[in-house]
Order: sequence, then structure tokens, then C-alpha cells
Amino acid sequence: MPSYLFAKLAARMPSADRTFIETPTGRIITYGDLVEGTGRIARALVARGVRPGDRVAVQVEKSPEAVMLYLACVRAGAVFLPLNTAYTLAELDYFLGDAEPALVVCDPKSRDGLTPVAERYGARIDTLDAEGKGSLMERAAAEAPDFADVERGPDDLAAILYTSGTTGRSKGAMLSHDNLWSNALTLVDYWRFTSEDVLLHALPIFHTHGLFVATNVILAAGASMIFLPKFDADEVMRLMPKATTMMGVPTFYVRLLQHEGLTREATAHMRLFISGSAPLLADTHRAWRERTGHAILERYGMTETNMNTSNPYDGDRVAGTVGFPLPGVSLRVVDPESGKELPQGEIGMIEVKGPNVFKGYWRNPEKTKAEFREDGFFITGDLGRIDERGYVHIVGRGKDLIITGGYNVYPKEVETEIDAMPGVAESAVFGVPHPDFGEGVTAAVVPEKGASLDAAAIVKALEGRLAKFKQPKQVVVVPELPRNTMGKVQKNVLRETYKDLYMR
Ligand code: ATP
Ligand code: MG
Repeated sequence: MPSYLFAKLAARMPSADRTFIETPTGRIITYGDLVEGTGRIARALVARGVRPGDRVAVQVEKSPEAVMLYLACVRAGAVFLPLNTAYTLAELDYFLGDAEPALVVCDPKSRDGLTPVAERYGARIDTLDAEGKGSLMERAAAEAPDFADVERGPDDLAAILYTSGTTGRSKGAMLSHDNLWSNALTLVDYWRFTSEDVLLHALPIFHTHGLFVATNVILAAGASMIFLPKFDADEVMRLMPKATTMMGVPTFYVRLLQHEGLTREATAHMRLFISGSAPLLADTHRAWRERTGHAILERYGMTETNMNTSNPYDGDRVAGTVGFPLPGVSLRVVDPESGKELPQGEIGMIEVKGPNVFKGYWRNPEKTKAEFREDGFFITGDLGRIDERGYVHIVGRGKDLIITGGYNVYPKEVETEIDAMPGVAESAVFGVPHPDFGEGVTAAVVPEKGASLDAAAIVKALEGRLAKFKQPKQVVVVPELPRNTMGKVQKNVLRETYKDLYMR
């Protein structure tokens, strides 16, 4: 068998002249170009000494060639290891030391800076630039003309993807050919993708959302995508007439709602809007529906598990929920301590099992062991509940749960109350050490543009609305919340910043 994932994708590819990627400037990469380009790069990889199972670390700007490099690694039997383009040299030092890749591929402009880091860990370095000038792409053809896809089975590693680093240091998640393939296939069916679909793609491609959800789904459907280098509301609105579907993080939807071009007419031809990676506020869901007539479909996944749940394609897409477990995925809610399954409706730890779930953390067998139950369920770290209709609700991360005076406080419940107040743009509720209560409930609140907020007044206003133990002991008004590059709020940063608030 040749490369499992590539063979599966190739079997579903449309004719060679069909578009795979179109760029905003009108460059077209067909499926024929894709097969030819990935073959050439795979040859170059092998010629550079990349052997089956070797990691190829990649830090490049988003481009069609970067997607080809991913599939070339898959064809060459290598393990694709994408890295956030925002990472600094010091951060890359950690990732390259951890991953020990055989080859590092970067943009031409970062080659000089990265070379000593790559060499420190015994890796070779090469560049990839869009359209291939003077790079791996261009030199590829001549180097090893008789390349054939390297044999890889369903359980072999296709990629190592580092988590977003929202709760601490990023961890390398090992994903097999079948992890990626089975999830892509499930999503194509669940979300009804066909070769006629055109996806508006404004996500980064070093993260599971833009790479393994968006790109793999498009490949498995034989569909096409419009590749924006990054999210830009004007560009998204300009290109929307060409698209049928969009996948985004909640911030995309919030920003598009601020765009006057977003109307019912401008979106009438769209088939589907999907959101994930962070909670979509019920307000955003409602506002989008009122403005466009479309109910955003929210789904839930993580680097380690690909996609776990989705709201239905037909049927109610319920705001504030992440829908049902996907076909093939088992999901349960357990008591975090005992691991016993909880009765329906109760809040506990979400655990999942299925072909989507990763093979473990790279070079960290202790952590892998700690995060799996004996019966194979993976402990997601997310707290949630299942309602009477079977919809899964995420209530936050286990690490963000506040225990104050012996009571559990779920930050989301408090945030929802604060967010509904006039003049509040958003909030983040977290716990910090408190001499009397163990942890003190604390809220960081961001005012709406032009509004001014009084911290004491917010504390006062919450008194009638929440049980006493849930009320923030203090509110701090801040211009913005700390976020990582995926736009996720970093509560560990808030906890660190305000750790002495009650301890003076
Ligand atoms: P790290 O594990 O390094 O702290 P991370 O968990 O943010 O970072 P990702 O794998 O990118 O890294 O994110 C997965 C997490 O994102 C999930 O565990 C969940 O907490 C959150 N998430 C994803 N989709 C949703 C959603 N629809 N609603 C709420 N939370 C979501
Ligand atoms: Mg995580």
C-alpha cells in the first residue's frame, strides 16, 4: 500500500483540471497541479535525506505551496510538523529541541535567523516560497526523478501538531494517517460537502482548524477553497460571492457583524457557516441569524482529537451548544475524581474515544498515560454537560474551574451575566489565591468602545443576580484580554498577573 492518507485522498480527487485553491489575486492551483507539485516536493524531501518517520518542521506563511508541502510529507512517509508563524526564535528553539526534525523548512526571509537553531538540533534547513522560486519546489524536479510514494499504513504518524498553548506550554499531539482520514470523511458526510463546494478559507494553516478540518475536508470532498493569507473582513466580504461555505473562529463572526456589507442578500447564496476553536457567544449566534438568516453551525474539537461534536446540518443548531457527538465518536461526562459517568444534565469532565483520537503526546509517555482512562477514553480537560435533547454544552476548562470556600464556580456562568451588562464588550472570570476562601472569584472586564466602566458598580450589580459565592470579590477593568495567536483568552496569564490581589 502506498501512503495511506494520500491514497485515500487521491481516490476521491476530481479531474485534474478542477480548481483546488484559488488565491485572492486569481492564482489557480488545480488538482492536477496538486498531484504534480506534491510529487515533486516529496522527491526533494527524499533527496534531502528525509526518511520514513522523520519529522519535517515547517514554519512558513500561508500559501498553496505550504499545503503541497504538507501532502508531500505525507507522500514521502515523513511526519509533518507545522509551527505557528508567530513563534520567535526562542520559542522555535524549544519546539525544534523537542521534535528533533530531520529537516526544517522556512520562508526565505527567516532562513538566516533559523539556521543556527536548526543546526543545534542536527536538522538541515531549506526554504519554500510561494510560487516556488529558488526553493525546494523549484529544485525538486531534477533531484530524484524516480520517486514513488513511501508505504505508510493507517496507524503510522502523519503529523505532530502542537496544541495552542492556551493553558500552558504547547504539547505535541501525534496524529496518524487514519486519525486524519477518518475525521475528514466523517465531516464531509456530516456537513454535506460535495465537489461543488467552495470554502472561504481565512484561517491559519499551522493549526488543526485550518489544516485538518478545513483543508482535509476540502480534499476529501474534491472541492475547492479560496485562500486568504489572513482574516480581513473587507476581503472576506469581497470574495464571499464566489464561495458556498465558510469556517471561522468566533472572532471572524464578531468582526463580520461590524461590517456594513454583511446582509441577507450578500449571504443568500451561502450554504453553511461553521464556527469552532473557542466558544461562540449566544449573542453572536443570534445577531448573525437576524442579520443573515443563517444559523451558524458550532462544533467542538481539539488538536488531540480532531472534531468531537457538531450541531446538526438539518435540525436545530442551538446557540451556546456544540451539538452532538459525531458518528463514530463516543463521548461521556464523568466525575473528574472518580472517573464515574455522571447522570444526564450534570456538569463534569468530557471524555472521548474514537478513530479521531490521537496516538499520544510526542516524547511524553507519562502525560499520555495520565490523560487516558484504562478503557481508552481520552480526558479532554474540558468541563461540560449533556442536556435532555442530547446536545453537549461546554462550560469551560477544568483548569479554569474556581473553587471558593468549598464551592465550584464555573467562570462561564459569571461571564454570561457580566457580558449582558450595558457598556461591557467582554469579560474573563478566573480564580486567584484568597486568604479566606482558597480562591477568590475575580473578573477582568473590557468596556465597549467609547464606554467607561466602574468596577465597583459591576460588583454591586451582580449582587442580586448570582449566588453570593459566585459573585466576583473584585472586578478589574482592562483595555483588552490576553489572547494567544488563535484568539483564545489566556486565563493562566490573568491568574499570574493578579495572583497577589487578595494576598497583600
Ligand atoms: P493547550 O492545550 O495548549 O492549552 P488549546 O487547548 O487551546 O491549548 P487547541 O487544541 O487548539 O489548544 O484547542 C482545543 C480547545 O479549544 C478545546 O479543548 C476547548 O477547550 C476549546 N474549544 C474548541 N472548540 C470549542 C467550542 N466550540 N466551544 C468551546 N470551546 C471550544
Ligand atoms: Mg488543550
